Amino acid sequence: MTINNPKYIFITGGVVSSLGKGIIASSLGLLLKERGFRVTIQKLDPYLNVDPGTMSPYQHGEVFVTEDGAETDLDLGHYERFIGRNLFKINNVTAGQIYSSVINKERKGEYLGGTVQMVPHVSNQIKTKIFEAAYKTESEIVIVEVGGTVGDIESLIFLESIRQIRKDVGSSSVAYIHVTLIPNLRAINELKTKPTQHSVEVLRGRGINPDILVCRVEKSLSKQIREKLSLFTDVSFESVIECRDVKSIYEVPLNLEEQSLTKRVLQKLHLEERPSDLSNWKNIVEKIKTPARKVKVAIVGKYTKLGDAYISVTEALRHAAAHEGCEVEIKWILSEDLEESDKIKELLGDVNGILVPGGFGDRGIEGKIRAIQYARENKIPFFGLCLGMQCAVIEFARNVADLSAAHSTEFANDTPHPVIDFLPGQSDSTDKGGTMRLGSYPCELGENTIAQKLYNASLIHERHRHRYEFNNLFENKLTEAGLIISGRFPEQKLVEIIELPVSEHPFFIGTQFHPEYKSRPDLPHPLFRGFISALK
Ligand code: GLN
Repeated sequence: MTINNPKYIFITGGVVSSLGKGIIASSLGLLLKERGFRVTIQKLDPYLNVDPGTMSPYQHGEVFVTEDGAETDLDLGHYERFIGRNLFKINNVTAGQIYSSVINKERKGEYLGGTVQMVPHVSNQIKTKIFEAAYKTESEIVIVEVGGTVGDIESLIFLESIRQIRKDVGSSSVAYIHVTLIPNLRAINELKTKPTQHSVEVLRGRGINPDILVCRVEKSLSKQIREKLSLFTDVSFESVIECRDVKSIYEVPLNLEEQSLTKRVLQKLHLEERPSDLSNWKNIVEKIKTPARKVKVAIVGKYTKLGDAYISVTEALRHAAAHEGCEVEIKWILSEDLEESDKIKELLGDVNGILVPGGFGDRGIEGKIRAIQYARENKIPFFGLCLGMQCAVIEFARNVADLSAAHSTEFANDTPHPVIDFLPGQSDSTDKGGTMRLGSYPCELGENTIAQKLYNASLIHERHRHRYEFNNLFENKLTEAGLIISGRFPEQKLVEIIELPVSEHPFFIGTQFHPEYKSRPDLPHPLFRGFISALK
């Protein structure tokens, strides 16, 4: 498909961080997609890390992995879930990537003796990446979310680049949306516009006049407040849009649609208005808001103080739950807390299911293993993701297959029973960034397994992010004791899914891959559906 003159929508944030720009970008993406436009969304992150893969989830939340194996910002997960399109490496650009490529070019002498400068060399590199997002993903419209808040030192060069793009491609091919906060001063119960006036002033100081304001507010914006915002910011009255807090993030596009956000954007981009059908999306929102029953799932992890650290997992649970007619309550359990024996029953006694997500490092590992033992012995539905699957193998090896010292070499290098060991080719790599088994790989499902039944397929593709794997030297010992290997990567025979038979347990599945990355509100993941439907 050849794309002629793609359009660009830039989303900046003002006043405070964590305004939900990602959800607004995703919502607009959905609204445009529903009108038949080919849309992609790109995130520009102003930090100096090359990607978030080396950062603790406490910094920016979960690391999201794309089909092509990029470790990206969690917003890309929202983008995919809303627009229903796969994204790629090009959809997440960081200042770290930009600067390292400029410096690499300089070392190779590609600047032909010139002085290398922020403008034009760094700004050109940023613009190239934005243009590439359109061409590489064959999109008619690229929504670009600029991370951070207007006024941050780090994001100056990104603002400069998106300003220049208007000149490069013409004003009718560019729209600027500024997402801002209108705080409510509780003592006088009044909405305040001043912080927004200041933030738009800063933006205009960088040469960018916003076309649309999306205002995060607790209560409705009155006509007077809209008029005031419009007067001070030069944004037309109709283009001052409110975005109020809602129960489910999936309601946001419906609210923005009601206020004709898309119409304003299309007008600015000189694109024709087209009819759209949001009935499918409305159905999903309705299902989320009207559950028939409630189930409680324990997530036993290491970063439980920040829900964002497991955002794809919680969203995948919600998608599956909505389709199964229920609501999930998440009980966050810090795995270390399970290491004291008397706490297990107290903490896990009231949950309908136990999920152990991915993770790295040995803190809390024994707590996760104990949670899995509790789930297995008490026949509580269990779902293990990546590290969660590895812990299930260790638990089964120790307590069922008589391999009392079973461990992963990630945590016990000298164990005599390394049931989880380095992936081929991983043990020599000393670099930490981007060196894992990453992205999509095929997996063949075993005949008559629960996995095959749930997927209703014999070959699937799932995304990975790990260094260790099931050690096939222990396969016989573990399968003789009753563990079923239900999925494998055909080329190297790597174990991808383990399960216990239904005769033994209502639901006990672990996956070496991360199924959560591929779940979408309208297409819940089959394994998550299986897990939720097993919760009684
Ligand atoms: N730490 C484990 C590994 O590297 C699991 C990784 C994960 O859960 N994403 O294999």
